Amino acid sequence: MNALASSADITVRPLLVAEMFGPTFQGEGPSAGQQAAFVRLSRCNLSCPPCDTPETWDTSRFDLREYTTHRTVAEVAAWLLAQPAQLVVITGGEPLLQQDRLVPLVEAITAAGRRVEVETNGTIVPAPELVAAGTTFNVSPKLSRFAGAKDQQRRFNPDALAALLASGRAVFKFVAGDLSDLDEVAQVQAAHGLDPVWVMPEGTSSREVLDRAQALADAVLDRGWHLSSRVHILLWGDVRGR
Ligand code: SF4
Repeated sequence: MNALASSADITVRPLLVAEMFGPTFQGEGPSAGQQAAFVRLSRCNLSCPPCDTPETWDTSRFDLREYTTHRTVAEVAAWLLAQPAQLVVITGGEPLLQQDRLVPLVEAITAAGRRVEVETNGTIVPAPELVAAGTTFNVSPKLSRFAGAKDQQRRFNPDALAALLASGRAVFKFVAGDLSDLDEVAQVQAAHGLDPVWVMPEGTSSREVLDRAQALADAVLDRGWHLSSRVHILLWGDVRGR
């Protein structure tokens, strides 16, 4: 039996959605600065201590039912296609936990001539059907100091990273705070053959993002990597829905 749910299930089972918002700018990675509409899916398989979206998974602090709406694929697709943005970003949480329902969603969006980026922590193997649907992947593996104690052994899934790399549709984006983090990025890159590598400065204020970007820039260049900004933080700070 196919690992993905049947098409009948997909039309019935809703997506667990934390929020939908836009138009705004994609803040991170290769498409930073492009106008985009966002869908944030709820639930995550990791529990990183510094997490921008704990309301998608942290049951010790949040009643997830209050932060989750159930929406059909058709409802989400209709909302996205009513937005002016040509780029759709599906983020989380960890969106690949719901990848069976992402397949028809991505198919609907790309069929309308729009681009889709799925943001993932890189621990779940993407379904071939999702890759074939035409999405790209912004993969953010977690460095040791950004992962929780119980996630240290499972923050890297070699099979998932290999599948994402083999898709030819993935970039690998690491949050880094200082130069010592770059050594660990290099180790992960070498261990899994990841390319291209993007480094994004840690920070929830424009001052932090700028200071860390300036501190990291030359070393990132020297290593042949790319540097991502956090456009939404620079513009609006750490607010929801932007
Ligand atoms: S993988 Fe992302 S969403 Fe999940 S806990 Fe870590 S930072 Fe938060």
